[in-house]
Amino acid sequence: MNTLAALRIPRALRGVHDDLASDAVFDLHWEGARIARIEPCPPGTPAQGLLLSPLVDVHLHLDKTHTVHETGAADGDLFRAIDMIAKHREGWTPASLRPRMERGLQEAWAHGVRAVRTHLDWMTPERPPAVDVIAQLRETWRGRIEIQWASLTAVDQFDDTEWARGVARAVKAGGGVLGCFIYRHPGLPRRLGTVFDLAEANGLDIDFHVDEGLHADATGLRTIAEMALARGFTNRITCGHACSLSVQPAGEAQHTLALLAQAGITLTALPTTNLYLQGSWAETPVPRGITRLREARAAGVRTCIASDNVADPFFPYGCYDPLEAWALGVQAAHLAPAEDWLDTVTVAPAQAMKLAWDGRFAPGCPADFIVLAARDGREAMAPAGRQRRVWRQGQPA
Ligand SMILES: [Zn+2]
Repeated sequence: MNTLAALRIPRALRGVHDDLASDAVFDLHWEGARIARIEPCPPGTPAQGLLLSPLVDVHLHLDKTHTVHETGAADGDLFRAIDMIAKHREGWTPASLRPRMERGLQEAWAHGVRAVRTHLDWMTPERPPAVDVIAQLRETWRGRIEIQWASLTAVDQFDDTEWARGVARAVKAGGGVLGCFIYRHPGLPRRLGTVFDLAEANGLDIDFHVDEGLHADATGLRTIAEMALARGFTNRITCGHACSLSVQPAGEAQHTLALLAQAGITLTALPTTNLYLQGSWAETPVPRGITRLREARAAGVRTCIASDNVADPFFPYGCYDPLEAWALGVQAAHLAPAEDWLDTVTVAPAQAMKLAWDGRFAPGCPADFIVLAARDGREAMAPAGRQRRVWRQGQPA
């Protein structure tokens, strides 16, 4: 039997003892690759560290990563970034993609990530080479990082039904998720209908890039929620970005969030990329590119934070550490107490990705865990607090 003494566990990460106070500390016992017992320490015992389940990054772009040294950065212009990556994409081959994608996974692994979902651009009818590369990487990384992928196609490209059917078939065959990009597209309900039809016909979940901008009339999120409810397509959708929700009237946004909760739609904020892309670059930005995380959670919507772009024209900085995105989100959206939001990079994305283990600690769960140097969520806001030790299958990494 192995033991670590006096660890604080965020309440949302406890599968047992979640009735005890936030500052309760526990001794963790494990046998082989499974947790055996989680025993509360006497009240007042000082914490030796903060226990987290391994991190889950639900929204990445591994096909675009580590290109910024060649493309340059878009200085906050999403549609310029789309053009820049489109040019670079013309040269993508399995041989050029694989080392960049692998590097991203290695960085994630080093930070204690156990599962990722990456979007892969699918912008012409032919199957992009990244789809074959991700299939190989899923095998290479099996047992270490669980990899899911989503096709990334603009909603108007679903009008070409032959192309769209080809995407859906490949996604199904590759164990992926149907993805779609939506920003103020005309005729959205009709076009969205095709996306839902294909998901239903192929038994696929959907992951949307939606409303990634600060125009209040970008209301794709609401259309998605209404359609999900009308079709009974519940608990199968993840929506990333939704920046425009932050500039819509509060009452309107609340109504949309209530629909999301009812439809079991997960909302993912991408603070690194969206603080970079949204808001003015001509002066200090005042409206910021972060969705209404607090209101979403209060409305009962599952909320996640993820890394999104790393070192590409969309976001020239970054790293594959979900705790960095979490810390930025905590500051940008005033998420307090910080510790209560650690489930946005652990339990919530695990549930959204329907992983076998949702990341809550209970006897019998995997002995896979991270111990932060921080003794509580507040200390985890400092880089020193995010120093970590990782255990996998009961063994220190
Ligand atoms: Zn994205």
